[in-house]
Amino acid sequence: MAITLGQRSLSRLDGVHPDLVRVVKRAAALATAEEDFTVLEGVRTPERQRELYAQGRTKPGKIVTWTLKSNHFRNARTGFGHAVDLAPFPIDWNDHGRFDRLAKLIFRAAAAEGVAIRWGADWDRDGKPRERGETDSPHFELA
Ligand SMILES: [Zn+2]
Repeated sequence: MAITLGQRSLSRLDGVHPDLVRVVKRAAALATAEEDFTVLEGVRTPERQRELYAQGRTKPGKIVTWTLKSNHFRNARTGFGHAVDLAPFPIDWNDHGRFDRLAKLIFRAAAAEGVAIRWGADWDRDGKPRERGETDSPHFELA
């Protein structure tokens, strides 16, 4: 089984670290139709980050604490973005179960590619999503 990442998803992987791109593409290759997902964002410009920061927590259904420091910026060392935001497709921000299933798929893909990653809903990587009120379920980054 596999899903096809749309053109928009693929263009959002521009500038993202090749290891993370491999994980996302492997996840697409492993995904069933029910595990369809989309790439929301990859590399972020400092301007865009300030914009998001200014919006604060106001987006309905998507409660994220934006910081001005982010792995979505190009990493000074590698020149690539080290984070991507992904969402199950079609998107339902309130369906945590689908975000959790997507995370399982991403971790399976990461294991297959030998890439260590961290998930925005489980920063301490103990396998318990949102235990400390983590709210960044779409966020995956290189560990
Ligand atoms: Zn993110």
